[in-house]
Amino acid sequence: MATRHNWTKEEILEIYNKPLMELLYEAATIHREHHDPNTVQVSTLLSIKTGGCPEDCGYCPQAARYHTNVEGNDLMSVNQVKAQALRAKASGSSRVCMGAAWRNVKDGEEFDSVLEMVRTINKLDMEVCCTLGMITENQAQRLAEAGLYAYNHNLDSSEEYYKEVISTRGYQDRLDTIGNVRKTNVTVCSGGIIGMGESADDRAGMLVALSTLSPQPESVPINALVPVEGTPMEEQEPVSIWEMVRMVATARIVMPETQVRLSAGRTQMSREGQAMCFFAGANSIFAGDKLLTTPNPDVSEDMELFKSLGLNPQKAFEKKEQPKSVSAEESQYQNLGEKPKWSRPGHKIERNLEAQQKRKAKA
Ligand code: SF4
Repeated sequence: MATRHNWTKEEILEIYNKPLMELLYEAATIHREHHDPNTVQVSTLLSIKTGGCPEDCGYCPQAARYHTNVEGNDLMSVNQVKAQALRAKASGSSRVCMGAAWRNVKDGEEFDSVLEMVRTINKLDMEVCCTLGMITENQAQRLAEAGLYAYNHNLDSSEEYYKEVISTRGYQDRLDTIGNVRKTNVTVCSGGIIGMGESADDRAGMLVALSTLSPQPESVPINALVPVEGTPMEEQEPVSIWEMVRMVATARIVMPETQVRLSAGRTQMSREGQAMCFFAGANSIFAGDKLLTTPNPDVSEDMELFKSLGLNPQKAFEKKEQPKSVSAEESQYQNLGEKPKWSRPGHKIERNLEAQQKRKAKA
């Protein structure tokens, strides 16, 4: 089946709500046409700068305004990152995703350090991904030139429900950053979270937003919310495995070429549940006992699961050629010291405000 870029919400909802066995069969068939069903990529997510974020994402323990037990840290050094990447490679990861709790990238020393981290990991022959918040076209070009393989920027939910989750930036800002990444050779990683109180309509809406991008994102992480004490979503009920399987299968059907990533929430899933997600089209997991700040199964458990299912870890650069890294001295792009005006809608989200007030009362 050729990739379509004109999916409607109604069509996607119809797929999402199919009888489960039919949905699984259709998704698994499409998966086999486009991917090796016995290969799953293992990626490692590294929090290179944790906590203290000025944004108000309702699901996130790293937002400075909520009271959580996350301990913040300054930007890691290039050597620390290299050591962690080597460890990840030795345990079977072919991709490292570096996350910094920033609203947007600011030109300067810290960004220069991140560019050096990108060069360093690319030289280890691993796929490098970054998730650093909103970026300009020039910053995307500088990352591309350093050898970045992918940039992650999640849409999180549908445009309508996004307003119930975050008030400090708009959906269009997300799309603009993805657009800036698309002007380079860097691949796009963008997905979302289920279990934040959104409806099936919102889930379909998010898949419309992703699948109608042209080209579609090369990578789509599907996260199940891990409710963290102190955040506005601390009391959300966990999503059922059936919802996760439906979401993975639907993403697979509407984005056949995409790497669908089973992301946060795996600790709440049984081995059988995860196997069903692989059957439905998930072909990547995140390894390591932490996903930025939330718990994740440990690597040996994952390798045991791979062994019992007969799965092989995907090698780096199987889907796209390794980018070349240009050194800082030979760079063609300048530090422009840009100060772009990303939006601040600032509308009221009751549960976010309550969580912030609770934190103030505790302090
Ligand atoms: S999700 Fe990212 S942008 Fe939002 S509060 Fe957390 S670290 Fe900040």
